[in-house]
Amino acid sequence: MTVKFLVKLLLSLFYCFIVIQTSMAAVPQGAEAGVPAFDKAAEKIETLIDSNVPLAQTQLKRFEKQFQQLSLKQKITYQNLLTDTYLLQAQYHLAKQSASDGLALTLKLSSPSLLISELLYSRGFAYESIGETELATKDYENGLELAKSLHDNVLIATGLANLGAIYYLTDRYENSLIVLNDAYNIAKQTDDDELKGMVNSELGILYVYLNQSEQAMVYYHQAYQHYKKAKKTNSSLSALVNIGMNHLYEKEYEQAISIYKTIIKESEGVALNQLMYSTYSGLSWANLKKENPNHEASYQYLLLSKQYMEGIEQYDIKLQYYTDEAFVLYELEHYQEALESMSKVESILAQYMPLSQLKMYTRINIINLKSKTFHKLGRYQQAYELQAQRLSLTQLLREKKHTQSIAEVRLALEAKQADLHKQVLKNKQTLQEVSLQEAEQKKSQQKRYLFLIAIVALIFAWLLAKLVQGQRRLYKASSTDMLTGISNRRKLMRKGRKLLQKAKARKADFSVIMIDIDQFKKVNDRFGHSVGDQVLKKVAELGVTFIRKTDLFGRFGGEEFIVFLPNTSTAQAKMIAERFRSSVEGYQWQLKDSSQAPLTTSVSIGVVCSADVPLDKKYELTALINQADNLLYLAKKQGKNKVCSL
Ligand code: GH3
Ligand code: MG
Ligand code: MG
Repeated sequence: MTVKFLVKLLLSLFYCFIVIQTSMAAVPQGAEAGVPAFDKAAEKIETLIDSNVPLAQTQLKRFEKQFQQLSLKQKITYQNLLTDTYLLQAQYHLAKQSASDGLALTLKLSSPSLLISELLYSRGFAYESIGETELATKDYENGLELAKSLHDNVLIATGLANLGAIYYLTDRYENSLIVLNDAYNIAKQTDDDELKGMVNSELGILYVYLNQSEQAMVYYHQAYQHYKKAKKTNSSLSALVNIGMNHLYEKEYEQAISIYKTIIKESEGVALNQLMYSTYSGLSWANLKKENPNHEASYQYLLLSKQYMEGIEQYDIKLQYYTDEAFVLYELEHYQEALESMSKVESILAQYMPLSQLKMYTRINIINLKSKTFHKLGRYQQAYELQAQRLSLTQLLREKKHTQSIAEVRLALEAKQADLHKQVLKNKQTLQEVSLQEAEQKKSQQKRYLFLIAIVALIFAWLLAKLVQGQRRLYKASSTDMLTGISNRRKLMRKGRKLLQKAKARKADFSVIMIDIDQFKKVNDRFGHSVGDQVLKKVAELGVTFIRKTDLFGRFGGEEFIVFLPNTSTAQAKMIAERFRSSVEGYQWQLKDSSQAPLTTSVSIGVVCSADVPLDKKYELTALINQADNLLYLAKKQGKNKVCSL
């Protein structure tokens, strides 16, 4: 706290110092009136930037000749707007220059201004886009510090969102999660839809990095709605681009194509290079990969995307383009040309060290593709050598152990969340009790209780906020559960839905078994968390021995497990559940420390089959899971260590 305060104080002093210096030194008298027509034009240009950047830039450049006559504020505004137009057209070196020019002018300002933060963020973004992440971070941090000292919530949240992006770009996912979460909470309190759009969109991207594309989709859709409300055409279109990309990632090609067609329609031909690049490259990929591929269309869209790519400076986009080109050409069996694209990818990769994990994946993918191409061309020796190279790189990636640390953070947060949940419930109860008592009190006493209620409500609200915050930070690194090695909830839900769809198509039975370890909290309390973990592992192991190849078994969360059983009746599912229950009950636990009380465990199980539920819910996964959960609850109520079904 004190350190932060000191930093702020020093920062303010620093600005005072600069202000005194510069106001003594420069600013010719009488120049402050500037060019009256500029202010009105600037307002117009600012709105124009959102829909038609080239036109905005032409309008702005009309004032270039009069630049010297502009007032100081006007000059800074000019540079700020110019920077924005460059940024939006992906001309990052120019953007960096005009932002720096603007920042040099701000030194003459008589008080620290939010314009400085804006310019710092813009320059940071330019740096970020050309791969200068350290310089970008510095600008973002300075801009944020200033926004904080000026108490501007919108700019504070913007700065946090910018930092969040830098963090996910450099594989620091935990940090990203934390600052984006803070940005989200601040943005929620404002009525700035553009800001809300931005924060949602960054969160969406982060969740893609975290392999949580369902959650990412939720954020992207929110971002789209906010940007639309704020009438930010370009931004709302980029939210659509992200949605389209997510569909591609999920192999939902027809949906992707329909999103891209919407973009082309909504952009009315004046959209930005990057947007159009992503749209056409997405269309190319979707046409290549969809069920009935259209190779010709794919190639044509690729050529279109190339035109837009050439107007973009961002090396990431070039990297992406040549990677796409290599894959498309390979699929079209133009192997020689594909190899040329691959060498372009490699030279870009070599130029932009250090490699983030994402770049590493690109490199591995390209090596793999190259090897496959050599194979097709009959150059087997080269193909073989490349495979060896790929293996060693994959090994290196594994050794980074990043997923491990993410899993640890997740577990810590989960445990904290469980505790908080209990506290919230307790507080809720107190709140109700206080309300009841209050009703019985005389008027003279009411004030005192109202005060008490306010305090309890405050604690409650704070805890609830923390709880939600905790939930927002919960994520999983992959589709397997780190502790037990079986499927995690994400994979369960995704694969479960697919299995259920198949069952529906065949009008077949589908059963769900829900398992919860009894008195697990006591195991943790008496034997410690690591024994608790061992129990979870063992129960998972026992589960694996009972499921058939066609079943799907996984950890649903905490000490709960689920099995999905296609083509299985209630009677069959009950039998499997019963065998599982008795194997857990009969398991002989061997603790290292034999002086401890003996450890016993049991599980309670709920079993449901699609045949037992009403027609309209038969093939709804959440309905089946809820029903199984109700039956599990019944088993607990009837004394635990029991299987219940309908
Ligand atoms: P019941 O018989 O009613 O199911 O009671 P319970 O104690 O099993 O259920 P409760 O839901 O109250 O407690 C579950 C506990 O599981 C709380 C949480 O700390 C613990 N837990 C969740 N995940 C993990 C984990 O990964 N490792 C360990 N050791 N404990 C975990
Ligand atoms: Mg439980
Ligand atoms: Mg339990």
